[in-house]
Amino acid sequence: MKISRIDHLGIGVKNIEEVLPYFENVLGLKCYAVEEVADQKVKTAFLKVGEVKLELLEPTSDDSPIAKWLENGGKGVHHVAFAVEDGVADALVEAEGKGIRLIDKTPRPGAEKMSIGFLHPKTTAGILTELCEPQNK
Ligand code: ZN
Repeated sequence: MKISRIDHLGIGVKNIEEVLPYFENVLGLKCYAVEEVADQKVKTAFLKVGEVKLELLEPTSDDSPIAKWLENGGKGVHHVAFAVEDGVADALVEAEGKGIRLIDKTPRPGAEKMSIGFLHPKTTAGILTELCEPQNK
């Protein structure tokens, strides 16, 4: 697979409103989009740091993966998202062929009109890894 850059860091939070002042008033970043991703039961808020984005993730339901992650003591960085240039579907197949455990066998829709797929942290040095690309490429 061909990774071109880190697209974003996913940061799990209980409440976006509560943490935004840190990112906006202290770090001076701007939240430019808030979007709910029904598929993942999260509300997301995006901030830009140069080429890289921060994706704040707030659970919208108790059975959201982020809710469970927070419940199990998760905080801060939840996942790292890499932009792939040659297709998420192919990248998932390639990763599986190299012994990586997949969370998503096929790409699914993410925030910001991205097509995304997750790799299991058990086989990726402990980093929950997201592969992503724009949906209409
Ligand atoms: Zn993400």
